Amino acid sequence: MPTYDYECQTCGHQFEARQSMKDPHLTDCPVEACAGPVKRKIGLGSGLIFKGSGFYITDYRSDSYKAAAKKDSAGSSSPPPSTPAKS
Ligand SMILES: [Zn+2]
Repeated sequence: MPTYDYECQTCGHQFEARQSMKDPHLTDCPVEACAGPVKRKIGLGSGLIFKGSGFYITDYRSDSYKAAAKKDSAGSSSPPPSTPAKS
């Protein structure tokens, strides 16, 4: 049975409540003198949702692709106009 964390919006009282998923969320502060509205805190063990499950590697290039690209760029780029030929 999951445990939910609640926090009173009026007096700030924090408490945990073990509830079934089917039970309605608590709405009233358990402090009798308060009985203010409580808010369920999203937190530990209460249905944490991991978003962004899609992890894409966009920078990945295979070695063969890199070799081909390097070869292509080297071959198609204009050769240096005047290379001082040293020996
Ligand atoms: Zn309260």
